[in-house]
Amino acid sequence: MSMDRHTCVVPLVLIGLLPGCSSPAAQPASAPRQPPAAAVNPITVDSTEEQIRQAVGTARVGRKLTPRTWPNGARMAVCLTFDVDNELLQRANPLPVPLSVGEYGATTSIPRILDLLDRHQVPATFFIPAMGVMLHPEMVPAILARHRHEIGVHGWIHEFWPGIGDRAKEQQLLAQSIEYLTKASGKRPVGVRAPSSGFGPHTFDLIRGAGFLYDSSLLAADEPYEIVSNGQPSGVIELPISEVGNDYVYYGETANGSLPSPEAVFEIYKAEFDLAFQERTMFILTQHPHVGGRRSRIVQLDRLITYIKSRGDVWFATMAEVANYVKQPR
Ligand SMILES: [Zn+2]
Repeated sequence: MSMDRHTCVVPLVLIGLLPGCSSPAAQPASAPRQPPAAAVNPITVDSTEEQIRQAVGTARVGRKLTPRTWPNGARMAVCLTFDVDNELLQRANPLPVPLSVGEYGATTSIPRILDLLDRHQVPATFFIPAMGVMLHPEMVPAILARHRHEIGVHGWIHEFWPGIGDRAKEQQLLAQSIEYLTKASGKRPVGVRAPSSGFGPHTFDLIRGAGFLYDSSLLAADEPYEIVSNGQPSGVIELPISEVGNDYVYYGETANGSLPSPEAVFEIYKAEFDLAFQERTMFILTQHPHVGGRRSRIVQLDRLITYIKSRGDVWFATMAEVANYVKQPR
């Protein structure tokens, strides 16, 4: 996910969740600046109960999937995830200076993050838009050379899916994104995270149809669950994210966020982890390399991983490992 301040086409209901989009620096959007659901009927005071039920029914929380025990008797799972958006947040304004803000993610943050993960010997999941791989092909072998990380789908150019407005086009973009990453990494991705949290009316059907093991775009719980779509269990696992665990919310893209204090952000993440530890569920962190990979910030990520490891009994895993584990019948 990312708060794409230059492509500020989030659903109105999500605007409160995506503060990057309300930045005064926001540029004209490259896609229509409107609720994506031009194709969706709004909920109004005249909607019937059935219409309201249908309106919210595309992707809902089903069976909770937190297992009774995690692997090796761990109390909980921890997933470090990175949305490698880099320059592609600047699609509407591809000029050298804003592009360079994103380029930093590839030139400097990714190597720094990979070294940090190596030092701690923990895995992570990298969601990368296909054209991000095209711009920086060296990222994929660098990630794979560590032999513990996962690469997941994050769109073609970090496009906002609800803004596509055409099911066939959205399906094609998803298919070509999968194909591109498969070719680049030698392995078909099993997980997807919608760019900018953009889940349109067709998105879930397309994700399910593409055979993904899991999605990680929704925000409806603090633990894994099976997505129920229009009243039916779907078989697709959701590993839900949270705005609280997202670096972009605090830092913004150029330190213009709501709380650009790395130490304060550490305290928030720590508190999120601590309750997850008590609840024996899971903790998913969402970082953007060009944002959270800055020096003063990655120091706090290092501190957080050190803290989590100090608690013991924690399973650091990729998202695919968690999804495969919670999917097993018990
Ligand atoms: Zn993103």
